[in-house]
Amino acid sequence: MQTNFSLAQLADPAVAASEKILRACVHCGFCTATCPTYVLLGDELDSPRGRIYLIKDMIERGGAPDERTVRHVDRCLSCLSCMTTCPSGVHYMHLVDHGRAHIHEHFTRPTLDRALRALLALVLPRPWLFRMALIGASLIRPLRGLLPGRLRGMVALAPKTLPAPSPQDRPQTFAATGARRRRVALLQGCAQQVLAPSINEATIRLLTRLGCEVVLAPGTGCCGALVHHMGDEAASHGAAIRNVDAWMREVDGAGLDAIVVNASGCGTTLKNYGFMLRNDPTWAEKAARISALACDVSELLTKLDLHPTRKVDLKVAYHAACSLQHGQKIMREPKELLVRAGFQIVDIPEGHLCCGSAGTYNLLQPELATALRDRKVANIESRRPDVVAAGNIGCLVQIASGTGLPVLHTVELLDWATGGPKPEALGD
Ligand code: SF4
Ligand code: SF4
Repeated sequence: MQTNFSLAQLADPAVAASEKILRACVHCGFCTATCPTYVLLGDELDSPRGRIYLIKDMIERGGAPDERTVRHVDRCLSCLSCMTTCPSGVHYMHLVDHGRAHIHEHFTRPTLDRALRALLALVLPRPWLFRMALIGASLIRPLRGLLPGRLRGMVALAPKTLPAPSPQDRPQTFAATGARRRRVALLQGCAQQVLAPSINEATIRLLTRLGCEVVLAPGTGCCGALVHHMGDEAASHGAAIRNVDAWMREVDGAGLDAIVVNASGCGTTLKNYGFMLRNDPTWAEKAARISALACDVSELLTKLDLHPTRKVDLKVAYHAACSLQHGQKIMREPKELLVRAGFQIVDIPEGHLCCGSAGTYNLLQPELATALRDRKVANIESRRPDVVAAGNIGCLVQIASGTGLPVLHTVELLDWATGGPKPEALGD
């Protein structure tokens, strides 16, 4: 794609990086066929190619973007399906991140939209505040019909009951069972530890059983994905620096073989810390080291000696979270692990399409998110599975809100098959 940036614009490293990405696009349009918003809406401006043009024009012109550009960029799920499809290797993720940062800096959103985004950015990364918000949402659930659109959708998504906080979700170290083979840090996550503390508990049981010492490092917190996807670079870089600093203390102390992530949306962000902080002279090198250590829990598990200790004859519909299959290109590992543990896998039609969760997308774009969820659930139910598995809390909540099937994290099934307790959702 031809670009027309001035030399002064290209002196900005962010613009220079985006220019390279733009020039790689040959506008072939292959990516449109696998873009969920284009599949739903059929509008070129809601396709990757359309958004690439809009972002190019916005950055070339500089200053405040028009409302139309913001609308179409906002509708992008950042699912990165387009990156999997693109034959020219266009790094859409870095481009749309730059586009969102530009919008955040130069566009004044309507007051309600601003307030809603500020509320989400304040509440979701803080587990205690998120817990209080969910309790509040459950109290006003009977009145949700009176609420305006997006607030109504948020209250509807809040679970009816909340599990108690887990005593494991605080900084501490869990010893390996038997000989220690690895020392790994686990990212605790923020929303996940409130909505499903059983996921970290299963991860810790599974990893320690397989010879890992698991560290929940003091000083770590939200990975910053939420504010990153809202374009707030200052906040996302702040979160990244805090985590890099905390994990580097472990690296320089007792050492770390890996930083394990069991929420793939967060994992994609951790693996991007090196790029996010590449121009920061203090943190660039450390951030690159942390990104190199980050791995999805399924990547680590494939290297460990996992075998079943009980018969688990269930049909599992494995939903590949976009952040895992497109963001991190991890497709085979979770399914192979489930098969190794004794489960039968059924393939989900249109497995490349997003379920509509996409971080806060289901809260900010409820109509599109619900259409994608219903399509995903219909595809899952068409295969008549016993249970749905996925590796990202957002997908678990989104899919569970549209089906009566049990929906579990992959590690919960692997933990059960290898000696852990049966997940409650599977009944007796
Ligand atoms: S597939 Fe790649 S090269 Fe083709 S239009 Fe899409 S982003 Fe551009
Ligand atoms: S990230 Fe997903 S929604 Fe956004 S343009 Fe690419 S395929 Fe479409």
